[in-house]
Amino acid sequence: MRATVMYSAGDVRIENVPDPKIIQPTDAVIRVTRACVCGSDLWPYQKMERIDTGRVMGHEAIGVVEDVGANVRTIKRGDFVIMPFAFSDGTCTFCHDGLQTSCIHGGFFGTTEVAGAQAEAVRIPLADGTLFSLGMHADDALMASLLTLSDVMGTGHHAAIIAKVTAGKSVAVVDDGAVGLCGVIAAKRLGAEQIIILGRHADRIALAKDFGATDVVSERGDAAMERVRELTGGYGVHSVLECVGLEQAMTTAISIARPGGAVGRVGVPQEQTIPGSEPAFYNNVTVGGGPAPVRAYIEELLPDVLAGNIEPGRVFDRTVGLDGVPEGYRAMNDREAIKVMVTP
Ligand SMILES: [Zn+2]
Repeated sequence: MRATVMYSAGDVRIENVPDPKIIQPTDAVIRVTRACVCGSDLWPYQKMERIDTGRVMGHEAIGVVEDVGANVRTIKRGDFVIMPFAFSDGTCTFCHDGLQTSCIHGGFFGTTEVAGAQAEAVRIPLADGTLFSLGMHADDALMASLLTLSDVMGTGHHAAIIAKVTAGKSVAVVDDGAVGLCGVIAAKRLGAEQIIILGRHADRIALAKDFGATDVVSERGDAAMERVRELTGGYGVHSVLECVGLEQAMTTAISIARPGGAVGRVGVPQEQTIPGSEPAFYNNVTVGGGPAPVRAYIEELLPDVLAGNIEPGRVFDRTVGLDGVPEGYRAMNDREAIKVMVTP
């Protein structure tokens, strides 16, 4: 089959690789209906050291189950499923806590150990715990939004939950990328009264406003902090969603939280330390977050997707076949595209 293989920073190729097959009796294989390129794929795209064997990329997909191992009980051939970006057994103590990204037997797709989904098909470890069967046939109008439940919509929701967004709260979203935009949807869905998006790209800002953003801050650093304070009666916001992962974004996030506020961080951190220790301490700001347990959130978010109450699929502004994936990486990296969908 054909798959997206990254060899080093900037070196993404479409190649023929062996077809995925059942290795463990708890595995399934799915035929990928839609996949996409993630903002977090851009970190290896910018930094990855050369690996001679390459790495099959992609951790977001929806697809149709093609084969199941002998011990798979609930997932069946022909099921239309969501593949969350992490695999999990669904039975350990952390899965029971709804933190499937810490599953004792779990791991992540698109790594050197487990091949990814920017491909025609993908092997799913621990299929019963990992996959969410939609109980419906593929539906073209809903594809894009269903695909976001494999990562970005669940991740934006996680940021909002960790940042303690509830009805009537003021919220700031640090990022106008796909996760930040989904964070705006999540904050609105949870009843936030004021939603400030920090960003500067006109097309992304327009989408954020459609999704429920009430204010836009295009400044950076201290100027951004001043502007957010102005918009919040001098206090800062109750909740900050940090969806970037860079030091500057985290510094800004902590600086715009009001005393007693919370920062939910879902951007993959690119530094070993968290900045803003002093202001976070003196303002009693809670800082939390991590890889979103999107598997736990599908059940909650799916009804709103099916009812059309939220349309996170609008974050996709470009669709490519597998041959277009390398160009898709480039376009996202150059900020020409918000998020690229792949139809293998
Ligand atoms: Zn588990």
